[in-house]
Amino acid sequence: LFISFEGPEGAGKTTILKLIAEKCKEQGIEVLTTREPGGSKIAEKIRSIILDPEHTEMDSRTEALLYAAARSQHFAEKIAPALASGKFVLCDRFIDSSLAYQGVGRNLGIDAVHDINVFAIGDQMPDFTILFDLEPEVGLARINANSGREINRLDVESLAFHQSVREAYLQLAKKYPNRIRVVDASKNVDEVVHEVWGILQTYM
Ligand code: C5P
Ligand code: MG
Repeated sequence: LFISFEGPEGAGKTTILKLIAEKCKEQGIEVLTTREPGGSKIAEKIRSIILDPEHTEMDSRTEALLYAAARSQHFAEKIAPALASGKFVLCDRFIDSSLAYQGVGRNLGIDAVHDINVFAIGDQMPDFTILFDLEPEVGLARINANSGREINRLDVESLAFHQSVREAYLQLAKKYPNRIRVVDASKNVDEVVHEVWGILQTYM
């Protein structure tokens, strides 16, 4: 089972993913927890290029291609073998991040970004996706309260940028209602874990 966790900054994807992985392990389920951009040696190097705050000159198409390059390596090297061995894969961001951030946030168009990702990974979509929906103001406030978080090139983006990303995610959820399940990420961690666990049960 291949599950991606999606949503804007500060929505709690990473936190909830860890807790869900622990619950899976308690049930004796083998899991691979991983993240994008990154998840493998080469893809983590690409991540550091993409997110380097000094790379202010990065062209949007370069950005989209780097995300797709990182994804193809990560998928081939880590995700596909884990799925083949019967593991659950819990991935912190996947293709929908590219569709929302580069397709809509960077105005490249969802179809164009989808196409380069088809080249990168074929039609390997997650079995399902949890979309952690949250108002950008709330997510950004959570992030600012967390001083240990890595700085990244997106820290300078406007609230309008983050709003367009949120809207894009909600549009994607409408377009793929069978794959994308929307969760209210403004609730507390326990409530969200409970809800995500409930969704997971329906696929087991
Ligand atoms: O989820 P995480 O905080 O690790 O993501 C790192 C950064 O990369 C975030 O600022 C996120 O918005 C950005 N990102 C992006 N486009 C993607 C994936 C992530 O701009 N396709
Ligand atoms: Mg995170």
